[in-house]
Amino acid sequence: LLPIGIIISCVIVALVIRLLRKRLSPLAELTIAVQQREFVVFYQPIINLTTGACIGAEALVRWRRPDGTMVPPDLFIPLAEESGLILPITDQVVETCVRDLRELLVVDRSLHVAINLSAKDITTGRFLSVVQKALEGTGIHNEQIWLEATERGFIDIEAASTNLAKARALGFGIAIDDFGTGYSSLQYLERLPTDALKIDKCFIAAIGRTVATSSVISHIIDMAKTVGLKVVAEGVETEAQAEYLKAHGVEFAQGWLYAKAMPVEDFLAFVRVEAWR
Ligand code: C2E
Ligand code: CA
Ligand code: CA
Ligand code: CA
Repeated sequence: LLPIGIIISCVIVALVIRLLRKRLSPLAELTIAVQQREFVVFYQPIINLTTGACIGAEALVRWRRPDGTMVPPDLFIPLAEESGLILPITDQVVETCVRDLRELLVVDRSLHVAINLSAKDITTGRFLSVVQKALEGTGIHNEQIWLEATERGFIDIEAASTNLAKARALGFGIAIDDFGTGYSSLQYLERLPTDALKIDKCFIAAIGRTVATSSVISHIIDMAKTVGLKVVAEGVETEAQAEYLKAHGVEFAQGWLYAKAMPVEDFLAFVRVEAWR
């Protein structure tokens, strides 16, 4: 009888804790998630459109709640950015990536991992020391880390360009994320030190739909090519889109046509299988 009593009270305590957590504000919950390090990173392969080879991966964060449910980034990154919690979350993403992919990146120097940075990360410049510290003694080359800078919420372009220039001087790759979606895309292209552009998936989805959007996307590609940047197309879902991109000289792509973002074990298996092909 006694063990059953103990079990029942444990269950009750667990339920009460869950109820209490549910009643917390989203910000309080996210704060606990940061303290408890409840974030995991999924990896989406980036493919060379000409050779079909995997050249690396984009790191995409998920919040794994104690009950096992996965919260997608769109549901908590905005709150994290607003509250400043994005800074410790970025730290955790960087540390997790390095831990997850260390062996792979050291074995295959041609591979890279692309990490998303928010405006706050970039304007404070905090990512610089965080990334360097995480890489210390790992054998990973700085060139194997790409940093994706989003246009969302950029306020201090001066600070941003200073910090990205520092990162670039250290050898890190810089990509402008969601390219084409912001009203000041051209301004960013001129002012931010950049190696690559990532064309947002809304443009890829529009390929072949209407003449107008198709001409927008071909202009975006031309713009990138003219300034000599690498171009990565995001959200490629169909062969027709891949063919269009190839025909327009885009070199790299990611999307469900190739693979969804996946847990690290699956990504390591993906790269291994790929190496035998
Ligand atoms: P993003 O950087 O533009 O990432 C691409 C998003 O498109 C990812 O969504 C990816 O899973 C999704 N995607 C990839 N291929 C396809 C496709 O073929 N079709 C469609 N419909 N979608 C595809 P996810 O993982 O939900 O991430 C959403 C956004 O959250 C990201 O957009 C990025 O802005 C932000 N995010 C993700 N991880 C991080 C992070 O570690 N730090 C920061 N600051 N932001 C992050
Ligand atoms: Ca390779
Ligand atoms: Ca991105
Ligand atoms: Ca995007």
